[in-house]
Amino acid sequence: MNAEGSSVSSGQVRADGSPRLEAFKLYIDGEWCESASGRWLETKNPYTGKAWAVIPRGNAQDVDRAVQAANRAFVSGPWASMHPSDRGLLLHRLGDLIAANAERLAELEVRDNGKLRVEMLGQMKYLPRWFQYYGGLADKIEGRMPPTDKKGMLHYVSYEPVGVVGAITPWNSPLLLTVWKLAPALAAGNTVVIKPSEYASTSLLALVELFEQAGFPKGVVNVVTGLGAETGEPLVEHPCVDRIAFTGGNLAGRNIYEAAARQFKRVSLELGGKSPNIVFGDAGIEDAVKGVISGIFAASGQTCMAGSRLLLHSSIHDAFLARLVEVMKAARLGDPNSPDTDVGPVATEQQLQKVLDYIELAKEEGARCILGGRRATRPECGEGWFVEPTIFADVTNDMRIAREEVFGPVLSVIKFDSDDEAVALANDTPFGLAAGLWTTDLARSLSLPKRLRAGTVWVNAYRVVSYLSPFGGFKESGLGRENGLEAIYEYMEAKSVFINPRPAITNPFTLQ
Ligand code: NAD
Repeated sequence: MNAEGSSVSSGQVRADGSPRLEAFKLYIDGEWCESASGRWLETKNPYTGKAWAVIPRGNAQDVDRAVQAANRAFVSGPWASMHPSDRGLLLHRLGDLIAANAERLAELEVRDNGKLRVEMLGQMKYLPRWFQYYGGLADKIEGRMPPTDKKGMLHYVSYEPVGVVGAITPWNSPLLLTVWKLAPALAAGNTVVIKPSEYASTSLLALVELFEQAGFPKGVVNVVTGLGAETGEPLVEHPCVDRIAFTGGNLAGRNIYEAAARQFKRVSLELGGKSPNIVFGDAGIEDAVKGVISGIFAASGQTCMAGSRLLLHSSIHDAFLARLVEVMKAARLGDPNSPDTDVGPVATEQQLQKVLDYIELAKEEGARCILGGRRATRPECGEGWFVEPTIFADVTNDMRIAREEVFGPVLSVIKFDSDDEAVALANDTPFGLAAGLWTTDLARSLSLPKRLRAGTVWVNAYRVVSYLSPFGGFKESGLGRENGLEAIYEYMEAKSVFINPRPAITNPFTLQ
């Protein structure tokens, strides 16, 4: 594809005369374009600490153009009249194109957010499933005909798309978390304007090229890059946006919820967590150690569902921590593109500072640092934004390190003596996204999930998610569900229709 017809143009001159960077473009109404602001934002590689591309710094004018395009596509044109089976076919075709382009998409994600290439490639290869699942579902939303008590009338319930969806997403798994919104929203017949994270927009712009290739009509999917205040807020406040689907932090989530409430706008919020990973005395220790590591040190702890609180039974406390520290001491930090790397950098310079600040706070609060506790300066980390995997023992659940989301490779260990105490500690948090249990006791496996106030509970597993299973939070971890059957109804309105074939209204005031 030539530069005019792709997300990338030939280059952007930099004011200080340093080398040109790849310059990405916005995608509005089927056209690649620069922002009305004429301004750009640098996107940096967390492994090198250096800028490698620029993205347009979108503004309210760009958002308005994108929303108007999405609105036109929703109201008229080929998308509005397309049969659900044909929408499904387009989604299937898109899934095939993603599978064929998985390497390139993964490469862009790694450059933007520093996560391990093996993990990102795995995610890219899994993404087509969302388009296949929701593509298959597109023509199976059948409505209902409940028995009616209104004599002589025909009554049915239909499900209709909400309208224009504004999708706002974070940097940690940019495509996966956008696809969780896009696939059900499009299958339901909506149109979408996406505002990706200012730190990780390039893989989404590359994905949108595939929408073009799959044959989606113009205006159905639009992307406006830029800052939260300059593009996210105008998107939430735009009167033609019918629904907001947000994944991100609680601060932005609260602002979005308040702004959406002013217009009674539909909203789903996938927010943060402080999830407990609970290891009982009867757990298989080697598996539980791996489960704890996957919960907090994989992806450098930058997942909403991170198992950042390890609740550890007193009978195994010391032996378990000794083994956990031993395994983590052997973990290899370094180039996220290398298959030998276990832990990559954190995604942004601000995130690096935030994590280091929390580490200092935990020390001040009296937590005992038994591993890490500082910025990683190993030679293999170069100029990158790395934090040493860090473990704090002797944490109590009232400390800020146990209550606030760090979003980095920092584990807080809290001791417990009984099942009731473990449940009470697990639930004593403002969040409720996920929880893990490690036990070989069948009765405990069966009884405890119901007692945990979290949207997802894993027993002898962690970080397992699927296109087939609803995902979302209790309490301050959010509103609504993504994935599974539940998600498609999040993007539809139920409509009740009553048809009176032989009107014989005798009294209009009492409807008799
Ligand atoms: P963030 O909240 O800072 O930003 C997320 C997105 O919102 C970005 O695109 C940003 O530009 C935009 N934004 C910020 N303020 C806005 C506003 N007032 N109006 C509209 N848009 C606005 O989050 P982040 O730092 O990019 O990501 C990390 C957070 O995301 C963590 O708290 C993490 O737990 C959460 N997260 C949650 C899930 C989940 O599914 N529950 C998944 C991944 C990440």
